[in-house]
Amino acid sequence: MKIDFIQEVQSRRTFAIISHPDAGKTTLTEQLLLFGGAIRAAGTVKGKKSGKFATSDWMEIEKQRGISVTSSVMAFDYDDYRVNILDTPGHQDFSEDTYRTLMAVDSAVMIIDSAKGIEAQTLKLFKVCRMRGIPIFTFINKLDRQGREPLELLEELEEVLGIQSYPMNWPIGMGKEFLGIYDRFHNRIEQFRVEEEDRFIPLNDEGEIEGEHPLKESNLYNQTLEDVLLLNEAGNQFSRERIANGELSPVFFGSALTNFGVQTFLETYLQFAPSPQPRNSDAGEIEPTAEDFSGFVFKIQANMNPAHRDRIAFVRICSGQFERGMTVNLSRTGKSIKLAQSTQFLADDRSTVNEAVSGDIIGVYDTGTYQIGDTLVQGKQGFQYEKLPQFTPELFVRVTAKNVMKQKHFQKGILQLVQEGAIQYYKTRTEDIILGAVGQLQFEVFEHRMKNEYNVDVKMEPIGSKIARWIENEEDVKETMSSSRSMLVKDRHDNLVFLFENDFAMRWFNDKNPDIRLYSLM
Ligand code: GDP
Repeated sequence: MKIDFIQEVQSRRTFAIISHPDAGKTTLTEQLLLFGGAIRAAGTVKGKKSGKFATSDWMEIEKQRGISVTSSVMAFDYDDYRVNILDTPGHQDFSEDTYRTLMAVDSAVMIIDSAKGIEAQTLKLFKVCRMRGIPIFTFINKLDRQGREPLELLEELEEVLGIQSYPMNWPIGMGKEFLGIYDRFHNRIEQFRVEEEDRFIPLNDEGEIEGEHPLKESNLYNQTLEDVLLLNEAGNQFSRERIANGELSPVFFGSALTNFGVQTFLETYLQFAPSPQPRNSDAGEIEPTAEDFSGFVFKIQANMNPAHRDRIAFVRICSGQFERGMTVNLSRTGKSIKLAQSTQFLADDRSTVNEAVSGDIIGVYDTGTYQIGDTLVQGKQGFQYEKLPQFTPELFVRVTAKNVMKQKHFQKGILQLVQEGAIQYYKTRTEDIILGAVGQLQFEVFEHRMKNEYNVDVKMEPIGSKIARWIENEEDVKETMSSSRSMLVKDRHDNLVFLFENDFAMRWFNDKNPDIRLYSLM
């Protein structure tokens, strides 16, 4: 029994995909789910976005925006692994949730469009992964199209992201002339658009095709041999340890749409990606194979089930084993909670979970009990996992209740939604309330929930600020430093914050007040 449990934990691979919209996250996810047998046809993941759950109001926002919460977590089995993919919402629904999801994974897969290279959102998400020091695997996508030179893309990884890379394979041509990949790791060539029986060509000890083969006539093949020679001599050394520390990113080339290179990627990824790792808490490091169940809430979602007004709290299990109906302790309050209603997320449907172990994600019903970052622990020795970081918002609005008679509900609603971590809160000197968010959808959700859950219509006016900076030496700040372009406010913990209109306003402020030391959260 005990050995089974350890094996179960070690079979877990829990990751998120980080990418800029349109790089191919959905397409790659679908292919992975197909391999895992979790879905039967491509198009299923997207199809759900406007399908089954469209009846609730909450879903209405999502339907209009063509986004999905129902596929927040997808689990499937492959070989002897249990793979958990956590969705990182992009586009307009980019929010703090997107960042926080990265706190719950053990590794990340970064997808890059070979024609575009590193884009803004990839960079933001990469920084969060870097901060955590988790392994990052790179998939350079859309090789069936004309893209940028592979060497140039690797240089960009190093320069823009500051991470070293190790190409596990290398493309032979691209676009119309894409012939396949030279697989350095498996010492073979994988040919594009070639039947499975003939797709792989083994290479000899010199890394070349033995004997005669039509490919050998191709300039592209010879070019690739030269490139690989260069990589062998001047490129980074392969190092399992540096991959594990997040210092070296293994790079794979492929084409998600044509399902090329995806299986090779998946199998190699599973081999090198970490199983659940120990996590820091105020009681020291907690081993994933520790017997008692523990986990933390990294996301709370409202009204997933249209029949209920409840929320679902997403819990990343960090140790032990979850069993339905078990009693746990909520460390923040010391309260006992019976986890009777719970959900595990499988791609096709939400199914009720009976057992889950470290690395898995479960959804537990929440009637307002949980906050983001809460730790749940089995047994008497309560402890708290490391606090989740707050992220610097980039959008700000001034919010008021349309009906002044609704002040009490307004205050209560804001307090709860802020506590839940749905949105950030600031107060001006004149007690005006400013809300900050990482993405626009957070405001829409806020407005919707204030109306539906607290019966308050709110008015939100953009205030033009884009940059928030906290202050190291608050004692040196003077009221007179505040202006319409550099608004001085307090956050919910009463820390002083300047909200700047733009970069220019911030630099101007810095020039005028060189002694004030500003910092951002993330
Ligand atoms: P997401 O926004 O990152 O989820 O991107 P999608 O998976 O929705 O893909 C964006 C667009 O790129 C879609 O039109 C896909 O069909 C297309 N796409 C994805 N992967 C590939 C690929 O490997 N090659 C080509 N040519 N197009 C791709």
